[in-house]
Amino acid sequence: MVFNEKIVNPAELRHVEGKIELYWIYTSGEAGDAFFKKLRDEGRFLAAKCRKCGHVFFPPRLYCEFDFSDTEFVEISGEGCVKAFSVVSYDADGNRMEKPEIYAIIEIDGTDGSIIHLLSEVEPETVEIGMKVQPVLKPEEEREGRITDILYFKPVS
Ligand SMILES: [Zn+2]
Repeated sequence: MVFNEKIVNPAELRHVEGKIELYWIYTSGEAGDAFFKKLRDEGRFLAAKCRKCGHVFFPPRLYCEFDFSDTEFVEISGEGCVKAFSVVSYDADGNRMEKPEIYAIIEIDGTDGSIIHLLSEVEPETVEIGMKVQPVLKPEEEREGRITDILYFKPVS
């Protein structure tokens, strides 16, 4: 195909045989970098508040997606409320797990954002929508500046 041919069937563009080698580098960006460093070094959470409309982004963003204004980092507790959850009883290979795991969408306090993460230290039948939860982090010396530095969330005690 040459560039001046008219494409009439878009499916033809998706026909690929064999392997396609792809190279990419994923970076967390300036705001993501600030978030992960704060998490690693201080065990604290950052969000970003729009200077114009006040929307609070979690995870933090440098610019507001609604009005393109600058944001400023704000420290938050990392606590939140369960918005939705699912109890997982089978692993990726289809084997029944000895102990079910609970995954939840957690609305983070003081922000307009949420995170999907593991809930632990709670039995599945006692989890409720709106339950207050707090993050449990790896010990300081084991943190790497990754999302896995958050081990799980647990009910606020
Ligand atoms: Zn804004």
